[in-house]
Amino acid sequence: MIEFNVLTLFPDMFSSFKETSICKRAIDSGRINIELIDFRNYTEDKHRRVDDYPFGGGAGMLIGPQSVFDCFSDISKKCEGKKTRNIFMSPSGKVLSHADILRLSEYETINILCGHYEGVDQRIIDNLIDEEISIGDYVLTGGELPAMVLMDAVMRYVPGVLGNIESLEAESHSGSGLLEYPQYTRPEDFRGLKVPEILLSGHHANIKKWQRQKAIEKTAAVRPELIEKAGLDDEEKAMAEKIIKRSREKICTGSTNKQKTAED
Ligand code: SAM
Repeated sequence: MIEFNVLTLFPDMFSSFKETSICKRAIDSGRINIELIDFRNYTEDKHRRVDDYPFGGGAGMLIGPQSVFDCFSDISKKCEGKKTRNIFMSPSGKVLSHADILRLSEYETINILCGHYEGVDQRIIDNLIDEEISIGDYVLTGGELPAMVLMDAVMRYVPGVLGNIESLEAESHSGSGLLEYPQYTRPEDFRGLKVPEILLSGHHANIKKWQRQKAIEKTAAVRPELIEKAGLDDEEKAMAEKIIKRSREKICTGSTNKQKTAED
């Protein structure tokens, strides 16, 4: 069971997330709990403001410390004695990885602060936050979508949330370190587009071999940097290197053509 406490100025954004599909089932079965806390309710400002102008100038408004400190102080009471992590969703944090998801799934309580506007006062980060996590090298308007991304990925590793635990192992970024191989379902022939015959052969070992080869091909073509850590044997490495070389050549040829067009 993981308890998520989400500190947000926009709790409504989480409604359909909590009420849909696997997340809803995980909540209903008591495997996770998501508590949405509008930290505006903690402000001492008579106009209910939680943000202010940044010292030293700069564009936009910053979330100030008072409401967030008081909110965390309240939450910390219910986290006593529990393995807890305080996270700030931030584009200047460490980019979230599969390893982080596995690590975070070991916590009993995860408190997630969602920023908004230009972000939050640094004293919040320095004094209340264990880690800043980014969901990618781009900037969103708020930490709510990143918080949902984090919770969604973590909850999948809470025992019982996914029916089929095997599906976790074959997935991209798991077990093998490769991206997932292509998959097909019925019909075998969709308007002339056929499922690869090997998958209909019933020959389990050959199918496994084909799937691994396709996973290597895809990883080498799309995310070559993952290949090195994927633990391939010599034959597989040679195959991957060929694909990587071919993709690089394609990129080089592409730029040469562009240059030519510009020169013409
Ligand atoms: N001024 C900030 C900067 O340059 O780093 C960006 C602030 S952003 C407009 C507002 C809030 O959205 C952030 O405080 C953070 O909570 C959230 N946010 C935006 N992009 C994010 C990302 N890539 N990952 C995680 N959180 C993000």
